[in-house]
Amino acid sequence: MHRKLLFLITFTFIHQQIFCWGFYAHKVINHQAVFLLPPSMMGFYKPKIDFITEHAVDPDKRRYIVTQEGPRHFIDLNTYGVYPFTNVPRRWKDAVDKFGEDSLYSHGIVPWWINSMQQRLTNAFQQKNYPAILKLSAELAHYIGDAHVPLHTHNNYNGQLTGQQGIHGFWESRIPELLAEKSFDYFIGKATYIKDPLDFAWKIVLQSASAADSVLLFEKRLSDQYLPDQKYAFEERNGMIVKQYSSSFAITYNDLLNDMVQRRMRQSIFAVASLWYTAWVNAGQPQLEANANIQFTASDSTAFKLLDAGWQSGKSGGRTCEN
Ligand SMILES: [Zn+2]
Repeated sequence: MHRKLLFLITFTFIHQQIFCWGFYAHKVINHQAVFLLPPSMMGFYKPKIDFITEHAVDPDKRRYIVTQEGPRHFIDLNTYGVYPFTNVPRRWKDAVDKFGEDSLYSHGIVPWWINSMQQRLTNAFQQKNYPAILKLSAELAHYIGDAHVPLHTHNNYNGQLTGQQGIHGFWESRIPELLAEKSFDYFIGKATYIKDPLDFAWKIVLQSASAADSVLLFEKRLSDQYLPDQKYAFEERNGMIVKQYSSSFAITYNDLLNDMVQRRMRQSIFAVASLWYTAWVNAGQPQLEANANIQFTASDSTAFKLLDAGWQSGKSGGRTCEN
């Protein structure tokens, strides 16, 4: 392939891959979370694991057709001051009273959105609305996964303020794609009941925020030690040779971060399974039929098609990610 074309592919790749775990990691998180569930839930989820996996990325696809979708995926905590950001009320109503809804949306709302989705999933369990349980499980998991990405809690989300453009996709796509299948361990244990999902969501974003500086700093330090033709390389990705962060750079960076990407993926999987389990417990532990014949409505099918069409046409502005 012509070298110029390769650069174009790379440029497009790096600049589109911002603002969420890559599609690959989101799907792994949803898939693996099913295996942490108790038998009474796993019997229902496991036959539907393909749906739960494939629809892990619906919220990102929705960004292309629904403008309000974007802020649900992040919260720029550093713009509020310093860790642990005690000036930000943890409850939505208190935060609205203090900052106003427009301001909150402009800085992202992911912890509150996780809590809202958690309540919706609880309601779906109470009603034994199987299509809604599946859709909400897949989507709640997406937002939980995003909350675990440090750069989802920082306004320098793609290194655009410090000359580190591309770092977002590097951390959340390049590293998992390079290392996950060969070396990530998904033996995590069991889902746990979460007494206060909102508080839990806040703990997740605070952990992410406390890691964001290292994510940026170590990349900067390492870049200073690498020549550009060592930092980037033409390597295979999805059957194509593209210019991307070199394997050597990615592995060294991952070591410097002490395997942070794997840790955050594992914590995402645990959090997803635990919040699914919590919703089911709070709904009174309804019996779920393993062989339920689940029929999505015509409007569900249309909505799925619209998501795909919007994503394919790629008419998005602002922060997005795709794979
Ligand atoms: Zn996202």
